[in-house]
Amino acid sequence: MGRDDFERERQAMVAEQLIARGVRDERVLAAFRRVPRHLFVPPEYCAIAYADQPLPIGHGATISQPYVVARMTELLGAEPGDRVLEVGTGSGYQAAILGALGLEVYSVEVVPALERRARELLARLNFDTVHIRLGDGKSGWPEPSPFAGVLLTAAPETIPPTLVDQLAVGGRLVGPEGRTHQNLILIEKTPAGIRRTTIFPVAFVPLR
Ligand code: SAH
Repeated sequence: MGRDDFERERQAMVAEQLIARGVRDERVLAAFRRVPRHLFVPPEYCAIAYADQPLPIGHGATISQPYVVARMTELLGAEPGDRVLEVGTGSGYQAAILGALGLEVYSVEVVPALERRARELLARLNFDTVHIRLGDGKSGWPEPSPFAGVLLTAAPETIPPTLVDQLAVGGRLVGPEGRTHQNLILIEKTPAGIRRTTIFPVAFVPLR
């Protein structure tokens, strides 16, 4: 497949998987039109990079289904220039989408080989506002905190309080929670306190 084929598939993915299912945020859609998802999957999955499903990326990790990445990005509701934390860099695709939205992204990955591959790919693609480091995402990333948004892309049994602590007032955390049954959770930190909303059932790899 050539460059034009990937381009066509990417536009079809946006129309059929995102717009058709109600993703409306124009900036989010523009980010999905731009980020070359086929470069974030292992070579053997390149031909189905734009399929409506998650794909294995090695080390027990997966790149999430495009629709799930889009919904989580919409729920985060961050504005250009905002600092956001991602726990679970994986392929770097979600981080690239956030970077394409003009966010200052801090992403933590615990598997050295994944961290390195994502860091090198994002540097090669000139995502200058995406910062990736090796570590345990349960500790967040204290130095650039507080964050306007926190995205968790691996599932803890319960959302680590440290991550809520690193959220600015007015900020939002989006992530899966649970072991055998997981739900996507939205946590909003308001001046009046914490508001929790359950969004929909999901299946993410467990947070280590
Ligand atoms: N956001 C990724 C999806 C990654 S899957 C993408 O767009 O491709 C979840 C990732 O979380 C895996 O890469 C896994 O290694 C990582 N992970 C699991 N436990 C972690 C922890 N405690 N800290 C940081 N990353 C973790």
